[in-house]
Amino acid sequence: AALLRIKEVDIPGGWKVGQPVPYSALAKTFSLIESTTKRLEKNAFLTSFLLLVIQRSAKDDYKSLLQTVYLCINRLSPDYEGIELGIGESLLIKAIAESTGRSLAVIKADLKREGDLGLVAMNSKSSQKTLFKPKPLTLPFVFSHLKEIATTAGHSSQTKKVSIITKLLAACQDIEAKYIIRSLEGKLRIGNAERSVLVAVAHAIVLAEKEKANKRWSNEKLAKRLEEATLTIKSVYSELPTYDQVIPALLEVGIDRLKEKCKLTPGVPLKPMLAKPTKAIGEVLDRFENQHFTCEYKYDGERAQVHKLEDGTVGVFSRNSEDMSKKYPDLVHQLPKSIKESTKSFVLDAEAVAIDRRTKKLMPFQELSRRKRKDVKVEDIQVRVCLFAFDILYLNGEPLLRKPLSERRKLLREAFQPIPGEFDFAKSSDGESTEEIQTFLEESVKDGCEGLMVKMLDSEASFYEPSRRSVNWLKLKKDYLAGVGDSLDLVVVGGYYGKGKRTNVYGAFLLACYDDDSEEYQTICKIGTGFSDEMLQSHYKELQPLEMEKVRGDVRVGGAKPDVWFEPKIVWEVLTADLSLSPIYTAAQGLVEERGISLRFPRFLRVREDKNADDATGPQQIAEMYQRQALAHKDSKKKGGDD
Ligand code: ATP
Repeated sequence: AALLRIKEVDIPGGWKVGQPVPYSALAKTFSLIESTTKRLEKNAFLTSFLLLVIQRSAKDDYKSLLQTVYLCINRLSPDYEGIELGIGESLLIKAIAESTGRSLAVIKADLKREGDLGLVAMNSKSSQKTLFKPKPLTLPFVFSHLKEIATTAGHSSQTKKVSIITKLLAACQDIEAKYIIRSLEGKLRIGNAERSVLVAVAHAIVLAEKEKANKRWSNEKLAKRLEEATLTIKSVYSELPTYDQVIPALLEVGIDRLKEKCKLTPGVPLKPMLAKPTKAIGEVLDRFENQHFTCEYKYDGERAQVHKLEDGTVGVFSRNSEDMSKKYPDLVHQLPKSIKESTKSFVLDAEAVAIDRRTKKLMPFQELSRRKRKDVKVEDIQVRVCLFAFDILYLNGEPLLRKPLSERRKLLREAFQPIPGEFDFAKSSDGESTEEIQTFLEESVKDGCEGLMVKMLDSEASFYEPSRRSVNWLKLKKDYLAGVGDSLDLVVVGGYYGKGKRTNVYGAFLLACYDDDSEEYQTICKIGTGFSDEMLQSHYKELQPLEMEKVRGDVRVGGAKPDVWFEPKIVWEVLTADLSLSPIYTAAQGLVEERGISLRFPRFLRVREDKNADDATGPQQIAEMYQRQALAHKDSKKKGGDD
C-alpha cells in the first residue's frame, strides 16, 4: 500500500537525487496525513515520503532524513537539549501581518472564526497578489530558520524572530504557510505521534533496502521484515532516544546491524520504566506468586536519572528527559562523595527527595516543589535533597538493561556508598507473605513515603523496560487501599464559566484521557468541586491563553458541552471515588462496553508540571481500573453473603 502512494507525495520534476528535499513535498505529505483518520493510511503516506527522501539523498547525506524526521515530530533536537518551538500567538500574528500586508485586526478576526492560525496564514497568503513567484523553499532552509528562531534569545530577540518568520512566510507557496505556522506554534495537529514516525522510518528503510537490492519478496516475507525492522528501531530508540545518532547509524549500517552500533550512552537520557497500580496486597501476590520479588519504598519526590560520563560530567534528567542539572546543582555537587573510585561512568535511576536538614527526615513532594526550577545557586538552597537510588542502567561502559534486577542491584550497591542525608539506596525488603508486605508498607508510610514499589527480581521479567508501564513493577500506595487504585493524570480540554462571584473565572473543567493508539483525547468527566477561589484564579490564568474557539480535531467530545475549549496541554492529577459507565463521555469506549467510562466525584490533587498532554492516563488503564473495581465489588458482595 505504501508504494502505491508514492506518486501522491512526489513533486514532479522538482526533486532529483542529490537535491535538497523540497519543503512543498513535506507540506503535501502533512496535508495527506491530515486528510485521513485511518492510521494505516497515515503510515502509508509518511512511509512513501520518507522512502523518497532516502532514495533521493546523496551518498553520506544523513541530514535530509534526520531533519525530515525532526520536522515530522515537530522538534528540532533531542528533548534534553531544550530547544523548543512554541512561539506566542501575538508574535506570529505580527509576522503574518507584515508578510501579507493585512492588518492585525483582520487577522485576529479570521483567527477567531477559523481557530487555526496556520489556516489563517495560508488564506492570507493566497489572497495576496504577488508579481513574481518566490524561489521554492527547501526543507534544510526551513529547518535551519526554525532553529534560529527557537534559539534566538536576549536583547531584541522578539524583533529578530518576527523578521525571520516574515522572511519565511514571504517565500511560502500554497499550503506551506499553514504548516510553517503550525510548526512555529509547536502543534502540527495532523494526528501523527512520534511512535508512528518511528514505524514509518522502519518501513521506509526496509523498502529502500528492498528496492536497492532489487529483491523480490513475497508479501509474507515483506510483512515479516517490516515488523522486525519496527521492533528493532523501537528497541534501539528506547535505549538511545536521539535521532541525531540513530538516523545516521541506520543509513550507515542498515537495520540489521543497528543494535550493534546504537547502545545506551551516558549523556543521552532514556525514558524511564513505569509501574502499574494495584489496590490490594492480594493483587501483588497474585501477580508475583512463586516468583522472586522485592518491595521497595516508593519515595515521594521527583524522578531523577543521573548520568556520569567518563570525563567526569554529571547530568541529572527529569522523567521527561529535561536537563535538570541547573535545578539540582546541590545533587551534582554532593554526588561525587558517594561514587566509589572504581566507578567511572554510570546511569542511575533514582528519586530526589526533600529532607529536613537537621533531623534528616523525609519531607513530602510539596516541600520539594518549593524549590526554584532554574538557575539555582547552591548557597541559596533552602530545601535540601537526598538521592535515593533504586536502579542502575549502565556501569563502566556496559549497558545493564538486560540483566536481572537482582544483579543490577548488587552492582549498584558495590559501585556507591551511602552518605546520610545525601545519598542512599532505596530501602527494600524481599519478603513474600501478605503480612510481611503489610508491615513494610506501614513502615514506608511512617517514614514519609507514598507506599511501596513491588518489582520482579529475577529472570527476564525483571529486565529494565524503558518507557513501558510494566506489570513487572507494581505500585502499592497507602491511599489506594480504600479507593479505586491509582490517581489519574488527565488533560484539561474544556472550561465552564463560574456562577455568582466566580463569573470571571472558570468554575468547572472538562477533563480527558489520552489514547496514544488513536492519538486522540477522550473526555472523561466534569470536575468542579474542591477548588478554592485562589486555585480558580490561578487555573484561569494558566488556561485562558489556551482558549480556542473550536474544539480541536483530535478531541473525541461525546456529549460534553463546555463553554470554552482549550488547547490540550495542562495535565492534572485527579482522584476519584468510583468509576462508572457513561453515555456522555468517550473515555475507553468499546473497551469494557460500548459506553465510555467516567469518574464519579473527581477530586483535584495537583497540576502535573512534569507531564505532557500525551503522558496522560490512557483508556486501557482506565478500563483496567474499572474492571478491578467491578471485581472488588463482586468480592465484597460474596464476602458479605458468606458472613
Ligand atoms: P505517580 O508518581 O503518581 O505514581 P507516575 O506516572 O509519575 O505516577 P508511576 O510509574 O506511576 O509514575 O510511579 C513510579 C514513580 O514513583 C517513579 O516515576 C518514581 O518517580 C517514583 N519512585 C519512588 N520510589 C521508587 C522506587 N523505589 N522505584 C521506582 N520508582 C520510584
